Amino acid sequence: MIPQFDLKKEFASIEKEIRLELDNVFSKANYVGGENVNLIEKNIAKYIGVKYAVSCNSGTDALHFALESLNIKKGDEVITTPFTFISTLEAIMYVGATPIFADIDLESYNINKKEILKKITKKTKAIIPVHLFGNPFDVDDLKKDIDNKSIKIIEDCAQSFGAGINCKRTGSIGDIGCFSFYPTKNLGCYGDGGMIVTNSEENYEIIKKLKNHGSSKRYHHDIIGFNSRLDEIQAAILNIKLKYIDKLNLKRVGVANMYNSLLADIKNISLPKKNKNGHHVYHQYTISSDLRDEIKLKLEENNIGSAIYYPISLEKQKAYTSNYQNLENYKNSNFLSNTCLSLPMFPQLAEENIIEICNVIKTIK
Ligand SMILES: *Cc1c(COP(=O)(O)O)cnc(C)c1O
Repeated sequence: MIPQFDLKKEFASIEKEIRLELDNVFSKANYVGGENVNLIEKNIAKYIGVKYAVSCNSGTDALHFALESLNIKKGDEVITTPFTFISTLEAIMYVGATPIFADIDLESYNINKKEILKKITKKTKAIIPVHLFGNPFDVDDLKKDIDNKSIKIIEDCAQSFGAGINCKRTGSIGDIGCFSFYPTKNLGCYGDGGMIVTNSEENYEIIKKLKNHGSSKRYHHDIIGFNSRLDEIQAAILNIKLKYIDKLNLKRVGVANMYNSLLADIKNISLPKKNKNGHHVYHQYTISSDLRDEIKLKLEENNIGSAIYYPISLEKQKAYTSNYQNLENYKNSNFLSNTCLSLPMFPQLAEENIIEICNVIKTIK
């Protein structure tokens, strides 16, 4: 059996270190807000190359707080991609703003800059590009084409921890970067977790309050906030895993390179393309094919896992259609929803397994 992802292998490689560190947390019995949380915020701000990092409970909350800290609200428009996880859209809807979709580019699978520029109106307050599957979207390139400098850019980096472009890490290029530490993400904890990074002191101060009942001082509540804290156990795990992230991301690149060479020149299958100035960290290795369903079935018959991210373009989700009327056709997003398939991808995936996977795919005509 070759799974689509395998967290057990990773745990096995760091088990001793994790157990030791968790013992420390348990013996101190301080679980919410403490030295591990402070340390992971400091470490991640440094790693990403920004002034401030605030931890929270999930990537979804990170996106929500980012929008709220920018005072984005009802009547405002926020442009994003229809080909992403639901959280990106949910966050826009939480603050009551209007989500505006811009179709994706079929090479990078990321939101297409030209489509974004067509969608900008007087009401546009923010753009949320997603560095999908770990492939960095060129935020600098977008920024230089936006005339209205008050439009903010929030990077959804849930799938791109460690990725970079033009020698900058994703999360440090726009106004605010949002990360998820959901267990299967490139940098994952053992539960839920998230992080917001920014160079803006003003947004940092607001976000710190939002995640902790609107207070900066205990029992003094300045705004209506939320309970969205990263706990000491998760922070301790993340501090350990952060030490290995670059090495593990490079292993993902190695897996992708091997797929690329073994699957090159197969008719009916197109392979993921990486942005040429970018460091792609392959959260997923996603191919596209008209024979997608046959490939998936064949892999299943051979005990090989695969996954469809994402089967429904977001403008077709009930949570959206029951709130908005939108007759636009996002051709590329829908095309990929019908043809995409993510192959097994994790740093410990063995070469012989990659060969086996590719051999099964090659039998499909
Ligand atoms: C996982 C993910 C999120 C949400 O992160 P959670 O921690 O699960 O809330 C947001 N955006 C994208 C693109 C994701 O993949």
